[in-house]
Amino acid sequence: MASAQVRTVLGDIDPADLGGVCDAHDHLFFRSPLFPGQELDDLPAAIAETTAFAQLGGQAVVQWSPLGTGRRVDALAEVSRRTGVHIVAATGLHQLAHTDPALVERVRDRLAELFVDELTVGVRANDDPDGETLPIKAGMIKVAGGFHGLDPHARYVMAAAAEAHHATGAPIGIHHELGTAVLDVLDLLCGGLGVPTKSVILGHLNRSADLRLQSEAAASGAFLAFDGPSRANHATDWRLLDSLVGLAATGHASQLLLGGDTTTAAARSATGGGPGMPYLLRRIRPQLESELGTEPAAAIFRDNPARAFSYQVR
Ligand SMILES: [Zn+2]
Repeated sequence: MASAQVRTVLGDIDPADLGGVCDAHDHLFFRSPLFPGQELDDLPAAIAETTAFAQLGGQAVVQWSPLGTGRRVDALAEVSRRTGVHIVAATGLHQLAHTDPALVERVRDRLAELFVDELTVGVRANDDPDGETLPIKAGMIKVAGGFHGLDPHARYVMAAAAEAHHATGAPIGIHHELGTAVLDVLDLLCGGLGVPTKSVILGHLNRSADLRLQSEAAASGAFLAFDGPSRANHATDWRLLDSLVGLAATGHASQLLLGGDTTTAAARSATGGGPGMPYLLRRIRPQLESELGTEPAAAIFRDNPARAFSYQVR
């Protein structure tokens, strides 16, 4: 059997070649009706931000922007070529609040099929489900839960994501609204739909500082993704280190992932005056090194993403 690979925008790579430092959840291109005027849609700005990340040792970034959020996968390939940073793109669908309802209607009857096609053949240009197929494949499936529950849209998208996972092996990354509905997602995706927990990445866990919930989620075996800092989620940012250290102390260090989750132009460092992608390496990494030790901290940026995003590609 062929070895597991990470499917990047420039092709499949050995997980060991992902490099030593991966931002496991971020955005170089993103737009949402919820953030008017704050679109990430500028190629030079995306290159500047990725370069700032690379200058601090960053070697890979996973963009969690799904279909319909201005993900610009062709531009992602250009950023990767220009900066030398590996980039993984996503297929999938976000919450209705972040997605044009007309687009959702257009893909309703063929969602799993479209996800599989984007993972194995190529993503659609310009976020148009009927658009040109680019010679660039997605390497993960992004879906989203709701606030303390899952609405019919979330359940429908997760069913399609599970079907696409079973057909391709690709990991599923979940946006948890304010860090909630984590157990609902595990019940549905892993309990009901049979997705192995090792292929599930629970995102935004820092947005609810519920340490008991985080520990219960960790016991499932899924990957736990934390991100920040964020102006919108500032209230829980200060709990990030407590969560990471607590989970590491209870034997879950190998499931932890970290990302910057830069979703607005003002949050960028290079062009927006915000913390941006470099903050992860400038501030969070040294804090983690002093709490856990240099090698255990390094493994969180290196080994965990290599396992979370690699699979037997088809
Ligand atoms: Zn995100």
